[in-house]
Amino acid sequence: MAEHDTSSAELDRLIAELRARGHRITLPRRWTLKVLLQEHRHLTCEQIRQRLEEHGIRVDEATVYRTLQWLKQNRLVAQTTLGSGADVFAFPGDPPHHHLICLSCGSISELDDALFAPLRETIRAEQGFVPHIEHYSIFGLCRACASQESAGEGQSV
Ligand SMILES: [Zn+2]
Ligand SMILES: [Zn+2]
Repeated sequence: MAEHDTSSAELDRLIAELRARGHRITLPRRWTLKVLLQEHRHLTCEQIRQRLEEHGIRVDEATVYRTLQWLKQNRLVAQTTLGSGADVFAFPGDPPHHHLICLSCGSISELDDALFAPLRETIRAEQGFVPHIEHYSIFGLCRACASQESAGEGQSV
């Protein structure tokens, strides 16, 4: 289908790269990657399992989870929590995207990846650890909720 040309060319390219690195590409691996590339949004493990089933690939959630972890090791999926129970997975952006999540009203906004550059450098320099900060969620209070909270503290309401 025409509208899928870009993502299917991209899928073929990524799969060729994985094969060149000696990986075996099973149907669940191929389709999980395909679903993530095509949908361009957050999906839970269970939602991905459902998409695979719609395409006739019947695997359990544990298999999908293992597949996602394998993709994560290959930096082809970014995992995070949005505070709603199940972790969500997305194809990593370039640059990656991150989230600010309000614990009071539940609003979610995006955070610029440039903020993480000094953190990556410091961790690498001080610990020799190479962090994959690809999809990070920071919980707290949004501007509106924080100002309400401080108003409440002063009991001015
Ligand atoms: Zn995200
Ligand atoms: Zn809020």
